[in-house]
Amino acid sequence: MSKEESAPLGRVEEVTPLDFDTLAVRAGTLRSQYGEHSESLYLTSSFVFNNAAEAARRFCGEEDGMIYSRFTNPTVDMLQVRLAALEGGEACVATSTGMAAILATCMALLKSGDHIIASRGLFGSTQTFFNAYMAKFGVETTFVSATDLPEYEAAVRPTTKLVFVETPSNPLTQLVDIAAVSAIAKKAGAWLAVDNCFCTPALQKPLELGADLVIHSATKYLDGQGRVLGGAVVGNKVLLDEVFKFLRTAGPSISPFNAWVILKGLETLRIRMEAQSASALAIAQWLEAQPGIERVYYPGLPSHPQHELALRQQKSGGAIVAFEVKGGKDGAWRVVDGTRMLSITANLGDTRTTITHPGTTTHGRISADARAAAGIKDSLLRLAVGLESAEDIKADLANGLG
Ligand SMILES: *Cc1c(COP(=O)(O)O)cnc(C)c1O
Repeated sequence: MSKEESAPLGRVEEVTPLDFDTLAVRAGTLRSQYGEHSESLYLTSSFVFNNAAEAARRFCGEEDGMIYSRFTNPTVDMLQVRLAALEGGEACVATSTGMAAILATCMALLKSGDHIIASRGLFGSTQTFFNAYMAKFGVETTFVSATDLPEYEAAVRPTTKLVFVETPSNPLTQLVDIAAVSAIAKKAGAWLAVDNCFCTPALQKPLELGADLVIHSATKYLDGQGRVLGGAVVGNKVLLDEVFKFLRTAGPSISPFNAWVILKGLETLRIRMEAQSASALAIAQWLEAQPGIERVYYPGLPSHPQHELALRQQKSGGAIVAFEVKGGKDGAWRVVDGTRMLSITANLGDTRTTITHPGTTTHGRISADARAAAGIKDSLLRLAVGLESAEDIKADLANGLG
């Protein structure tokens, strides 16, 4: 048996003493009889058995092994073991998208009559999913201010089963104190799920801070190169077994091709996150000094109201910078339209820097009052800093800052 051969799901124990960087390139590697060095892409919908008895043993779970790619595939398993190792979780289930990870978690763990507490400012589709679809099946959600711990406590009901947060928030980079909210969830007998999309395990480890589940849109930094959709849930074996059973039955499964792309993306995750965060900090500091700027929101700046929490909870401020421009919406649009290089798109987590005007795009469909309540001014812009030179990004922004 090769040193790197490992069982499909959950056997990360033997590699967990290794450092993050080692796990990122080696955890979960499964080798075929050919001894390939780089991980294989298994594009197959099903797997064959040697005889009827083996098929029966696989199907009833008596024997480990591959069956059908809706729920077992070696490439997907490699991704699951590697991501579980990076988050410090016992198990991981990969899904077709980040939203599918949220869907699978809720369908697997909640039932009609249960209650969710969620931090305000969640990803738009997550809010819609809770408000429109979980509500339709009798699961109510109370939204609380991300930073206000007494609000979380006051929202607890006997039926509260899940506390769902995202930190830092989009686009204003508000931080949720994961350890403090975990204590509130534990007292309430509820699970805490943290959407770790913005930081990734390279910068933040929610399970170590007391979260029960980590949710990922692998579409963002885990791939990191804007190529494929994917998602994942990480946590302990008991909870993940439930999520796996739902995935096996309902099928929001990831394509092995996408899993392979994301698996290879994980190898450079820490290096990318560090480089993109360092550029984001340099750009945030530069923006703060520009006369055309009203305010900069970046957890890595001492001016951020939760800078102290950011230093405790995250390895760096991350790669998302939000800022308000003088001159309202016109001023903000002037900056967007003045750029020649930056990509004008609402996506994030790419090697290419993206710029967005949240007020007329991601948050354009909510009422002006709701936007104001969320703190999203017409003058606000969001930058998701990529891997280009920070000097070139600043120069591109300077065009429209006048
Ligand atoms: C993009 C995103 C999602 C949804 O992920 P998809 O892969 O697009 O389904 C969930 N949460 C956050 C924070 C996101 O940015």
